[in-house]
Amino acid sequence: MRIGQYEVSTVVTSRFGLDGGSMFGVIPKSIWGKDAVPDSSNRIPLVTRSLLIRGGGKVILVDTGNGDKWDGKMRDILATDPTETNLTGALAQHGVTPDDVTEVICTHLHFDHAGGNTRLEGSETIPTFPNATYHLHRENWEWAMSPTEKDQGSYRSENWEAIAENGMFSFVEGEDGILDEIGLRLTHGHTPGQMHPILTEGDTTLYFAGDLFPTRLHFRLPCIMAFDNEPLKTLKEKREVLERAVEEKWAVVLAHDPDCEAVNVAADGDRFRIEKEFTLD
Ligand SMILES: [Zn+2]
Repeated sequence: MRIGQYEVSTVVTSRFGLDGGSMFGVIPKSIWGKDAVPDSSNRIPLVTRSLLIRGGGKVILVDTGNGDKWDGKMRDILATDPTETNLTGALAQHGVTPDDVTEVICTHLHFDHAGGNTRLEGSETIPTFPNATYHLHRENWEWAMSPTEKDQGSYRSENWEAIAENGMFSFVEGEDGILDEIGLRLTHGHTPGQMHPILTEGDTTLYFAGDLFPTRLHFRLPCIMAFDNEPLKTLKEKREVLERAVEEKWAVVLAHDPDCEAVNVAADGDRFRIEKEFTLD
């Protein structure tokens, strides 16, 4: 999809599984289990989907997925196999090498969004994208430094220490845009300072939903992940974003849906529904 000076594509950087109950919060399995069929450990199939934005001399990657630093035990828990689907392989399919990437936009530092920020070289953890500036919201950085006992398992310092040590972070303050023609909307219910890049040209708007709407099932307002720190805040943020998305016909890109990369949404009385599913190609 072309938006202004940028060509925008989606890239699936890993496949993995998370507990279905955690993913859908208060929604019972009798409802979600028909659409997201769990395995024998109750894990539902998910992907990590990044945005690749190219133009104006820049190669911009939004989120880096699970990465490949996992040991055998964690690969098993997360049902992930980086030898099958991985970040560098997925970028190579678009003709992009790690050296080409000039900017990484981290929506937030949860491991399934920032795991590919770094990689192992021998026993050393190094930045995956040596020529990139990594953009992160200041509020999320501060939270990642001292998460709560509820969410500390999602924040793993091996995904950012090497970036910080090499002075490669650029911290976003307030609701300033990130780069030329790439705006920003923030949410805080999932985790403080989650950044959602937004690109607009004329009537076309593309919004990266990150962990606000991880899959198509999350457009039901009460379907909020158990991972969220402040679910009622998420509820309010979902409604605000959806109202705007309906009015302005946003293309909403889904970070974790295994079978759908983008949707348009429509209002349906007090609720919202998916009007159209599509790819950005
Ligand atoms: Zn998250």
